[in-house]
Amino acid sequence: MEMIYGRVDDSFLLLPRYLYALREANPGTLIGLEVDIDCRFKHLFVALAASISPFYFHLRPVIVVDGTHLKGKNSGILFVAVAKDGNEAVFPLAIGVGPIENDESWKWFMSHLRQAFGEPENLLIIKGYRPGVAELLCQAAYAYEQSNYTRAMSAMAALKPKAYEKLLRVGPEKWARSQCPVSRYSFLTSNAAKSFNARLLWARCLPICSMLEAIRLVIEQWFNDRLAAAQESDENLTPEAKQKLSAELVKSRRYTAKRTTEGKYRIRASGRHYMVDLQEQSCECNEFDLDQMPCSHAIAAMRRTSQWRITCTLTTGAVH
Ligand SMILES: [Zn+2]
Repeated sequence: MEMIYGRVDDSFLLLPRYLYALREANPGTLIGLEVDIDCRFKHLFVALAASISPFYFHLRPVIVVDGTHLKGKNSGILFVAVAKDGNEAVFPLAIGVGPIENDESWKWFMSHLRQAFGEPENLLIIKGYRPGVAELLCQAAYAYEQSNYTRAMSAMAALKPKAYEKLLRVGPEKWARSQCPVSRYSFLTSNAAKSFNARLLWARCLPICSMLEAIRLVIEQWFNDRLAAAQESDENLTPEAKQKLSAELVKSRRYTAKRTTEGKYRIRASGRHYMVDLQEQSCECNEFDLDQMPCSHAIAAMRRTSQWRITCTLTTGAVH
């Protein structure tokens, strides 16, 4: 490994030159490098230009961050920040390296993240939280409807009062979908950041410059593959969004919808009733509101409108 990639210590000496070349080749890239009083490496932050501009214009404002240990002769932590693109694929935003995972390192990384990506309206940051396996916690975290969240939390209060109190102290708005003040879309855990980290497993053993270059190559490959796939497609929706909508569309066929007033519909589905407001893009099940994608009830309501056929052709490829 040393013969191919050089020594770990030597790589740190090359770092300023590598970063200079990286920025020259990728104008608009944001780089942060901090050294201590003896000029020894402390912190690093890199957000490539190819990640910065799409985030402003094309991605949902949800950033997932996570930290993981470097491998081999490297000591330190690799920080990653990712989003998801319209096809639900992991979209790398930035990486960072720090000596240990503590408040100072996180603060340094997050302040550079803010410098690179700003604070878009309704920005949500999800950090390394694992919902765990406890069934009640998952039920509470994943519930769309307030009543399901309350039921799961009441059961937890009775069965595991300590865990219940701790979860309330953390703040349900940070981990429960139905309690979040802004839309989490379909993001709930830090899985996206973990899967990016897992893809970088082998790179984490390399000396720092080789590691950065290996990560850059992964990002370049992903972006190129997606660009090629997008250029071949003439669809308005991504494959993932189309699949989701098609599944909801199939479910909606079993429902009956009745218009109550302009834009509002009462949907009868599996013995229950849901009120849908198409103008407000809202449904009583809360999925339409939180994920900002029409749920099966909303689609059942849309099927009653005169615009349905036009919408179908535009969004789902003339599926009726
Ligand atoms: Zn619904």
